[in-house]
Amino acid sequence: ARSQTGQQRLLLKQEILGHTDSGALSFEAHLQQALQRDEFFLVYQPQQHLADGHISAVEALLRWRHASRGVVSPAEFIPLLEESGQIVDVGDWVIGEACRQLAEWQRAGLHLRMSINLSAVQFNQPDFPQRIMAHVTANRLLPKQLELEITESAAMSHPEQTLKMLLELKDLGFSIAIDDFGTGHSTYHYLLRFPIDTLKIDRSFTNSVTEERSCRTIVRSLTTLSQGLGFKTIAEGVETQRQRDYLEALDVDEIQGFWLAKPMTADRLSAFVAAVGRRLSQPR
Ligand code: C2E
Ligand code: MG
Ligand code: MG
Ligand code: MG
Repeated sequence: ARSQTGQQRLLLKQEILGHTDSGALSFEAHLQQALQRDEFFLVYQPQQHLADGHISAVEALLRWRHASRGVVSPAEFIPLLEESGQIVDVGDWVIGEACRQLAEWQRAGLHLRMSINLSAVQFNQPDFPQRIMAHVTANRLLPKQLELEITESAAMSHPEQTLKMLLELKDLGFSIAIDDFGTGHSTYHYLLRFPIDTLKIDRSFTNSVTEERSCRTIVRSLTTLSQGLGFKTIAEGVETQRQRDYLEALDVDEIQGFWLAKPMTADRLSAFVAAVGRRLSQPR
């Protein structure tokens, strides 16, 4: 999640606590209840393979349906969960639910890769590989069907620790993506040593690629770097056809963004994939 000041966090806590019948509860207890009351849910945003147009993957994105505030964005509450350490349990729930949904789609003949966002707090738990494997096995999936996203800034904050964990996860067969690439500060040294499969170019760059020459330069060099190192390149935050066409000309592998689709519930996703499939099979 993007940076949030301590003041903003405090305000959100107060707002959420103030509007509920459970005013006596601490904020942490409130979040714990959210888990027990099934107030968290996942939406899925598709990723499209540019070369042939098929929907290759979806990214699972967390939402909190709050009793009085409505649906709260993860950018707001994930920092709070990280602060209290509750992201470990909530993150575990995300993985379990994403795996359950992927297995359900697979049984229905819908074959997709599932991208899951990991928080550094969650990812640095020593038993993280066992926890995620438990969900994969219980749902009869293979690790390679999951792409684990860790942001560039999280990955680079304790790079030796990250390296150790990524190697363990890669060994188990998981696919690894560096998220929000371009917003952190990578050392080339670790870009070479981390077992990376995919770089996701941050939407702040892709989004202004058709308006600003400086953004084009950055996107072009990030893409060249990614391609040269043999990674798959995904551009996030693609909002217009012109942005899409520009990225295609750069040979970006996949795109994700509002131009293709906004994040959606699981039931709508299968209809969306079917519609894209029909469009692709129509003679032009
Ligand atoms: P992210 O992983 O970079 O996910 C992409 C975010 O960009 C999503 O925001 C998505 O809705 C938004 N987005 C996608 N396409 C466009 C576009 O064309 N234009 C614009 N303006 N936005 C677009 P969302 O769902 O609010 O999530 C925000 C961040 O919260 C995520 O950024 C990720 O870092 C974090 N997050 C979400 N779910 C989870 C989770 O389950 N666990 C953890 N640890 N973090 C999560
Ligand atoms: Mg982000
Ligand atoms: Mg992500
Ligand atoms: Mg991102």
